[in-house]
Amino acid sequence: MVDSTPTLFTRIINREIPAEILYEDDQCIVINDISPQAPVHMLVIPRQPIAKLADASAADKALLGHLMWVAGEVARQAGVEEAFRLVVNNGQAAGQTVFHLHLHVLADPSGSLDFSESTI
Ligand code: AMP
Repeated sequence: MVDSTPTLFTRIINREIPAEILYEDDQCIVINDISPQAPVHMLVIPRQPIAKLADASAADKALLGHLMWVAGEVARQAGVEEAFRLVVNNGQAAGQTVFHLHLHVLADPSGSLDFSESTI
């Protein structure tokens, strides 16, 4: 049976739950993460509630590309276009907690976050 309960992010998109909205268009919304893991931590969220990346179909390819493009746009808006990281957690074992696809955009304008130390 398909779960028709609106996801947390759908409720944010529908303005039922408050969030700091940084960008939106007909396909997606960008908000600040409520529990930032870096000085800049934004979430790019499609309006379409695809549960996780691996559930996307071939018909979603243009949307997935759009989300990547928006990530670059909001990184530019935030002044971090020269150094940011995109993360997508797919599945609970990979750390996904909200089952509505989203891209994490992480950056530190001060340069203190050393991405080169990371193993991924
Ligand atoms: P993930 O663990 O990849 O599923 O990421 C879910 C993210 O959603 C986490 O980084 C949470 O901090 C973030 N989050 C959860 N609730 C909210 C909220 N109400 N507003 C903004 N971000 C949220």
